[in-house]
Amino acid sequence: MKELRAECIARLQTVGLRPSEPRIAVLAFLMKHRIHPVAETIYKALAPEYPTLSRTTVYNTLKLFEENNLVMPLTIEDGELRYDINTSFHGHFKCKKCHNISDIFFDESGMKMPLPQNGCKVESIHLDFYGLCSGCNTEE
Ligand SMILES: [Zn+2]
Ligand SMILES: [Zn+2]
Repeated sequence: MKELRAECIARLQTVGLRPSEPRIAVLAFLMKHRIHPVAETIYKALAPEYPTLSRTTVYNTLKLFEENNLVMPLTIEDGELRYDINTSFHGHFKCKKCHNISDIFFDESGMKMPLPQNGCKVESIHLDFYGLCSGCNTEE
């Protein structure tokens, strides 16, 4: 736990953010729980331990992290803004039954992505898969 805290402080300092308690707590939660949570999930998980923490602080902290590329916002489904601590390129699989979201990584040789030509500048790519995860795909 101490190591995680130290890493959070280091990450915050690297991007020039003051390592305040709420920032450390939110970042530590994201690093520990790789579940692509929505802000509300983070708030509810941290509230018992940090009684002074407000919803607004969590939202603002996540916004700040986003601006500093500490987290990647995900809108896999409409009206559901999730946060991913892994900001490198990867896809997501969302199970329609248990609603868990898992990461999908690919190596350079594994898949050739079609990219827009003719001088288009790609700024972001979103790759989402939907279906039943292995735990839920047991019906037959
Ligand atoms: Zn599932
Ligand atoms: Zn992810």
